[in-house]
Amino acid sequence: MSKCTLQPAPGVWVQTSNLWDINSVVIAGTGPEPTATVVVDPAWFPEEIAELQALAAATPAGRATHVLFTHGDYDHVVGWQDFPGSTLIAHPRAARRDAAATEQHIAALDRRNGTVRPRPYRYAPAAAFTSPASLDLGGETILFFPAPGHQADGLFAVLPQRHLLVAGDYLSDEEFPFIYDSLAHYRSTLLLARELCQKYGIEQEIPGHGHIAASSAEIEYRIRTDLDYLDRLEAAVAQAKVDGLDVRQAIDRLQDFTFRGEPISGLAAAHADNIRLLYGEKVEE
Ligand SMILES: [Zn+2]
Repeated sequence: MSKCTLQPAPGVWVQTSNLWDINSVVIAGTGPEPTATVVVDPAWFPEEIAELQALAAATPAGRATHVLFTHGDYDHVVGWQDFPGSTLIAHPRAARRDAAATEQHIAALDRRNGTVRPRPYRYAPAAAFTSPASLDLGGETILFFPAPGHQADGLFAVLPQRHLLVAGDYLSDEEFPFIYDSLAHYRSTLLLARELCQKYGIEQEIPGHGHIAASSAEIEYRIRTDLDYLDRLEAAVAQAKVDGLDVRQAIDRLQDFTFRGEPISGLAAAHADNIRLLYGEKVEE
């Protein structure tokens, strides 16, 4: 059993995994002729993926016609083979991920957890990926927007009629800005989120991990506090460089940083990775 399944809007189900509170989303068309059902980031344990299959099978389309990856990180791409005949949607760069590294990450975690899958996991071949700007669900449209910053291959999905944003690994109440791509891109993506919220009257935001933001005020709080962290981090690292600190010394100096008013201590390793990235070091998730 998954941790929980919520229905925040008509035709939208959010299933939270027992692994890292990963949110998988099933989106069914609710227009006059619903023809498509999209499963977003199908994760993680086989019995949880079976629940997603059952949810998709109960939609008007009768199955998942599309699988969407919000980005190519291994915790978000595991279930795509379980929806045969579906079309894969992702940022074009997701097709260029290191398939072997992804497969090794998943196999290692499965070994640790004693997870047995119906077949060995394989990353999707490049030819399987499509990158449309929008998709017709049958009388209504879902829109996709490149969302780099966390990773270069991030993608937002917006349901204008249902005032909903599927954000991938942004705007979470359980995570903070993990920057593996670039701080500048991360900031523009947060500003894009704000713009989309205004343009489409977004009232709910589904993060890749954690709880749904169920009001425009909560979404704006997440945007503002994530931007605030980026701004302070950027300024503090710039000052550390002016002061001649190396990366080790900068990490030491910035260990008392806060995020959303709390000490950053619980996220110290990720915070240090962000500092390394701003020092131009290669940082792997
Ligand atoms: Zn993730």
